[in-house]
Amino acid sequence: MFPTIFSSQCHRTLRSAKVFLPYIALQVRTMSSQPSLTLPSGNKMPVLGLGTWKSKPGEVTAAVKTAIDCGYRHLDCARAYQNEDEVGAGIKAKVDDGTIKREDLFVTSKLWCTHHHPDDVERACKQTLDSLGLEYLDLFLIHWPMAYKRGDVLFPKDADGNWQFDDTPQVETWKAMEKLVEKGLCKDIGLSNSNKKQVQDILDACKIKPATLQIELHPLLIQEDMLQFCKENGVTVTAYSPLGSPDRPWIKDDDPRLMEDPTVVEIAKKKGKSPAQILIRFALDRGNICIPKSVTPSRIQANFETLNFKLTSQEMEQLKGLNKDYRGCALEWIAHPHHPFFPI
Ligand code: NAP
Repeated sequence: MFPTIFSSQCHRTLRSAKVFLPYIALQVRTMSSQPSLTLPSGNKMPVLGLGTWKSKPGEVTAAVKTAIDCGYRHLDCARAYQNEDEVGAGIKAKVDDGTIKREDLFVTSKLWCTHHHPDDVERACKQTLDSLGLEYLDLFLIHWPMAYKRGDVLFPKDADGNWQFDDTPQVETWKAMEKLVEKGLCKDIGLSNSNKKQVQDILDACKIKPATLQIELHPLLIQEDMLQFCKENGVTVTAYSPLGSPDRPWIKDDDPRLMEDPTVVEIAKKKGKSPAQILIRFALDRGNICIPKSVTPSRIQANFETLNFKLTSQEMEQLKGLNKDYRGCALEWIAHPHHPFFPI
């Protein structure tokens, strides 16, 4: 609990104690100078964000508050995580207590597969804004390229248990996403889980370029081709599941545990860091944005402390050497491979 106590109680104490004023000024400067990437729109996206998938409603408000107190200014959310109300409560608490202003935060959310039809996109965005208690999103992503049957059932199935898909092409959804920017509902739009052809289709048809492509990225899945492609096209890359997503619901006993990999552990020991910190740094040192998830105060704090060290090129090569093109989030479990727009 140390960071929570540190962040809330001690900050309150520090704020009222003149003797600590230089310390406070230093903290504030450190937060506002957090490294960021400039998006094609000119907006800046902090390179480190807090992931919120699987963060339970009862835990995520506290996690968001702790993260903001630690200095995080980027939150990664989604309608499908079913916790945006609680994320919003955390944001509201930190705006209300004066720790941050709305404009200090970079908030991402994602359009779920049931809302790909162009007529549904604005309503879905407004639902998310309502849950988060915000007037605009900094970034709105198409969560997956596959469309599901329209409606409010997140994972629609027919009476026989078959998944119900829809055939809206992502390019049509994108045109509706562009209108959200024009209306001021979000500042940037982007893609997630699309393959190269699907990103190219958007680049060929777009008025507004995708600001980022959010994909699974870690030493077991280094995706060099995709990173090169995005670089050539001026699209930033956001690394999800950077720690290997050990709490994903469908993990199996014999699946690799990235934070226990001997190479990761050895580099961590050598540098006096944790395996998680090495993995986060791996994403950042490749020039990507990274969004590790945690609801544990000490880990939220430790993950943020990755902003103050670097891996050597030799360590980066060692970690890249672990690649197996292994995906934790391939979604075979919900029969996605049968969808015509399945990206993998
Ligand atoms: P992850 O960040 O790779 O791993 C999260 C797990 O690691 C949790 O079990 C967490 O535990 C643990 N952890 C965090 N920090 C740690 C530390 N310092 N030491 C030890 N364990 C630590 O997994 P993820 O949630 O799959 O990915 C991160 C975020 O990416 C998501 O939350 C979501 O925002 C985004 N994402 C997006 C997509 C997409 O389709 N676009 C897919 C997957 C993920 P505790 O929470 O218990 O501390």
